[in-house]
Amino acid sequence: MTDAYKDIIHILVEPELGENTYIVERKNYMVVIDPGCEFSEIKAILDKSVKPLKYVLLTHGHVDHIKSANSFPADIIYAHEEEVQTLKTPSRNASLWTGKGIKVEGIKVFKGKVFTLDDGITIYHTPGHTPGGVIIKINEALFSGDTLFYDSIGRTDLPGGNSKELQMSLKLIDSLNRDAKVYPGHGEPFILRDSYKVNYFLKDK
Ligand SMILES: [Zn+2]
Repeated sequence: MTDAYKDIIHILVEPELGENTYIVERKNYMVVIDPGCEFSEIKAILDKSVKPLKYVLLTHGHVDHIKSANSFPADIIYAHEEEVQTLKTPSRNASLWTGKGIKVEGIKVFKGKVFTLDDGITIYHTPGHTPGGVIIKINEALFSGDTLFYDSIGRTDLPGGNSKELQMSLKLIDSLNRDAKVYPGHGEPFILRDSYKVNYFLKDK
């Protein structure tokens, strides 16, 4: 018997920096990815469903991706263990720029290179933009944070950034399904295969 349920993906765009907050409606629960938009906007979408919110997942700890994180209970928030330092240090997560330092603490962590969180949810550690950056795969959808954009990659000049590490992380992307739809941290969704045609940093060897 095949399960016909398809995840529904809602996209909210933060007006200042164009950060994408994703709300994924799974068969039995909701997932928020990168709560950078206003909490009230996120909540309005969650409230339309009777399904409970099970996870708030962070692709990385920069301020534009975590602005509303502290409006959620810490025990449902997850990020990679290498990102804990960034999350709790305003000078590293760039929230000092906003004049309002944000610390996200007491959360749960993903460990290692590949981490299975739940049925159909796999986390790939892709450092480079930040030490604990990840790509989150939910079924065939890839949430790439600021690691991969349609025609570019994340910057490596912020605290904890490392261009060599990012290049290694891009090699991991080579192993992913090219037909997957990618939901980046900024910009419109795209098919991974199409990115290979236009993205200088993704090259077929
Ligand atoms: Zn970022």
